[in-house]
Amino acid sequence: MKEVDYIIVGFGLAGMAYAEVCEQSQKTFVVIDKEVENASRVAAGLYNPVILKRYSLPYKALEQFDKALVFYKKMEEKLGVTILSDLPVRKVFYNIEDQNNWFTASDAIGLNRFVNSTIVKNTTNVVRAPFDFGEVAETGKLDVVKLQGSFKKYLENKNAFAKASFNHSDIQFKNNHVIYQAYKAKHIVFAEGFGMKSNPFFAKLPLVGNKGEYIIIKSPLLKLDAAIKSSFFIIPLGDNLYKVGATYNWTDKDWFFTSIARKELEDKLSELVTVPFEVVGQIAGVRPTTGDRRPLVGIHPKYDQLCILNGLGTRGVMAAPMFANCLFNLIENKEPLLKEIDILRFPKKLS
Ligand SMILES: Cc1cc2nc3c(=O)[nH]c(=O)nc-3n(C[C@H](O)[C@H](O)[C@H](O)COP(=O)(O)OP(=O)(O)OC[C@H]3O[C@@H](n4cnc5c(N)ncnc54)[C@H](O)[C@@H]3O)c2cc1C
Repeated sequence: MKEVDYIIVGFGLAGMAYAEVCEQSQKTFVVIDKEVENASRVAAGLYNPVILKRYSLPYKALEQFDKALVFYKKMEEKLGVTILSDLPVRKVFYNIEDQNNWFTASDAIGLNRFVNSTIVKNTTNVVRAPFDFGEVAETGKLDVVKLQGSFKKYLENKNAFAKASFNHSDIQFKNNHVIYQAYKAKHIVFAEGFGMKSNPFFAKLPLVGNKGEYIIIKSPLLKLDAAIKSSFFIIPLGDNLYKVGATYNWTDKDWFFTSIARKELEDKLSELVTVPFEVVGQIAGVRPTTGDRRPLVGIHPKYDQLCILNGLGTRGVMAAPMFANCLFNLIENKEPLLKEIDILRFPKKLS
C-alpha cells in the first residue's frame, strides 16, 4: 500500500494547480485521471481579466490574475517548457456609445490597469470593425495541452500519476485517513470539473455546467496577430489556424460537437471577416459553471477527508492557482475560506 498526503482526482486546470501547490509544499500525492471529458484541453487558454460584455472585472480578478501569472511562470521553469505567450485581446466596437463606455472603463479604478484608452485603428480591414478596437493590456494565452502533457510526464516519472476512472464506492473511511484501492491517503481532493455530477458526496452542489464549442478554421488571408472579440472570439493558433467561438449552451451537458453550433459560428464569422476561411475542426466541452459565479471549494462537513476544488467557470486559467492555494491553506493551516467560495454556503446540498 502506498501512503500519500493526497489523492487528487482530475488533472484539468484545477487538479494540476492543486498538484503543483502540493509539490511546492513537499506534500506527497497521486493524481488519478480518466483522461476524457476534460474542459481544460478544449479551452483556448486565454487569460483576460476584463469581462468584455460589461466592461467589468470578475470576482477577485486582480488577486487571481497576479497569482496566476507567477504560478505558471514557475511551472514553466520547473518543467522546462514555454507555456505562456503574450496575446493582445482586441474588442470590436459596435458604435460610438460602445467606444464611450470603453473610455469610461479606462478611468475606473482596477479596470484602468487593463483597459487601454488608446483606440486601435482597423488598418487591415480583414475584420469588419468600422468603429475600430479597444485593446486589453497584459493578456495572453496558456498552452494548457502542453502544460498537461509535460506535467503528466513529470509526475509519471515520480510514480504520481495514474490513468484510471476513480470509483467513489471504493473509498474506505478510517479515523484520520482513507484507503482507496492501493493507496492510503490523508485527504482526497476532487477536481473533477463537470464530472462532479457523478460524485455521490458532492453531486448535489449547484454546478450548473455550460457547454461550449469552437470551430477551428484555416484562413491564410486573415493574418491576425491578436485575439479578436466581438460576440465571440477569433484566437490565432499559428500556421493560419484560428479557434473561433465559443458558444454558450445552458441546456446540453454532453461533450459532443454539433452541426448547430458549427453553423452558428460559421454564420457569425462570415459576418465579421471579409476574407475566406475553411472549417478544419470542431471541439466541445462543458465549463464547470455555478449559479452564483463563485467556485466550489472546501471540505465535506461529514467526511472531513474529502475536499473539493471545482466551479472554476469560464476563466479556469486565472482562477485555478488562487483557489488551489485557498483550499491548501484551509486543509493544512486551518485558514478560513472566503465565505463566498466555501461549499458550506450550500449546507442542504451536502447531507
Ligand atoms: C469551449 C471552452 C472554452 C474555454 N475557454 C477558456 C479560456 O480561454 N480561458 C479560461 O481561463 N478558461 C476557459 N474555459 C474554462 C476552463 O476550461 C475551465 O474553467 C477549466 O478547464 C476547468 O478545469 P477543471 O480542472 O475544473 O475541469 P476539467 O478540465 O474538466 O478537468 C476535470 C478532469 O477530471 C477528470 N475526472 C472527472 N471525474 C473523474 C473520475 N471519476 N475519475 C477520474 N477522473 C475524473 C476528467 O476526466 C477531467 O480530466 C473554457 C471552457 C470551454 C468549455
